[in-house]
Amino acid sequence: MFRPEKFTRKIACILGAGKSGIEAAKMLARRGFSVLISDEKKITKLPALPAGIEVESGGHSERVFACEFIIKSPGIFPKAPVLKQARKRKIPVFSELEVALAFMPKDICVLAVTGTNGKTTTTTLLGEIVAEHSKSCVPPRRTFVTGNIGMPVCAVADQIKPKDFLVIEISSYQLEDSTYFRPKVACLLNITPDHLDHHGGMLNYIKAKARLFKNQRSSDVAILNGSDAFCAALARDIKAQVYAFSTQAKHELKTDVFFDGDEIIFSEGYRLHAPKLPGIHNVENAMAAALAALAIGVSEKTIQTVFDRFKPIEHRIEPIGEYNGVLYINDSKATNLDSTIIALKSFDREKRIWLILGGRDKGASYEVLAPEINARCKGILTIGESMEKIKRELNAEVEQIPCFTLGKAVQYAAEHAQKGDIVLLSPACASFDQFKSFEHRGEVFKDLVHSQFKK
Ligand code: ADP
Repeated sequence: MFRPEKFTRKIACILGAGKSGIEAAKMLARRGFSVLISDEKKITKLPALPAGIEVESGGHSERVFACEFIIKSPGIFPKAPVLKQARKRKIPVFSELEVALAFMPKDICVLAVTGTNGKTTTTTLLGEIVAEHSKSCVPPRRTFVTGNIGMPVCAVADQIKPKDFLVIEISSYQLEDSTYFRPKVACLLNITPDHLDHHGGMLNYIKAKARLFKNQRSSDVAILNGSDAFCAALARDIKAQVYAFSTQAKHELKTDVFFDGDEIIFSEGYRLHAPKLPGIHNVENAMAAALAALAIGVSEKTIQTVFDRFKPIEHRIEPIGEYNGVLYINDSKATNLDSTIIALKSFDREKRIWLILGGRDKGASYEVLAPEINARCKGILTIGESMEKIKRELNAEVEQIPCFTLGKAVQYAAEHAQKGDIVLLSPACASFDQFKSFEHRGEVFKDLVHSQFKK
């Protein structure tokens, strides 16, 4: 276990100068550690760093191995030579999450959410429910929403007091490096093939997800997708109490929460109205959040209150406005084919969607989109680097209009969409060919749409 008191020389190395690496360095420096941040890539821009932190970039020097321990940033390849070297020299390697937790009081309540898809939505929803609940605790407690959601755990570590709630979004990359993590409540939303290059195949990806439950005990709670065969396979080895949710008819696990098309029904007998979010996938996210909240004693009333006021999260099937009877929707977060299929499925089977598709290709074939596109789309507006590949592979019965840029796609859609139509940006591709990030792509889309009609 990462025991701060064990490291008396107080010299740490952080591999990777990303957001979590920098926050880890800052947290350790505040505690008197000398920290070396070492990044393989050349770094030109860094935020101002406090005293006690040095940075080397463009490669790892021998100084890495002079440190007492290493914190590995999640993005670093598990088989990276620098890690091999560290292991050979018996230098302990920890994750940012576990180091942060080591500096927190022991009696905090940790709820963790992972899954291939739905992590941010479920973590946000659960975070709001727990925050609402914590206000009414006597004395009131505080809730922190942290982790992969864009707020590294090290960034909040100093603020945590006994009895606080921590709702942590955790990715497979972070789980892969986790050895001692033991959440009170652990949710696994689903597992579908993703990030296989990084983990070295599906088996390793599943093994990484399984680490979420590894240290749990019978007093803890595990929440799983009851219709997901991979979740069901993992459930066999879980020591915590298992609860499963499902919106499907077929169950792989004994299921405790169901959906009747209108309400979420718990086997105990009570019912909740799902939040007003598009798509059946969001009902699953709501079920997982509700089960997690109930596991720590939140009332159904509090859960329903938060469900009723919860708004779609930015860039995830986010309605941005209606102009001339046409609804514009930003799903820039759809950076893979699965997400775009999910987005299309969340609309009725009527041909009224103009789908803006394309960006930086991720290797899979676009042909899998054809059934949902044929059922729901009027036209496909292609953009970015993958336009040619989409044209070759997507054998849909719908016209493809090459637009090259998001600006041209919005203009085309504005000129051709009719009352009742939907213009959906759900690109199924990464954004980096034309944008800094999916968030940037979503912001640009929103600006383009609004300014198109303010002309
Ligand atoms: P993550 O943080 O895991 O990337 P998000 O909550 O940001 O997940 O959602 C990203 C996209 O994943 C959504 O726009 C939607 O297309 C899809 N998605 C969300 N929840 C689920 C779910 N429970 N099952 C399958 N797909 C989902």
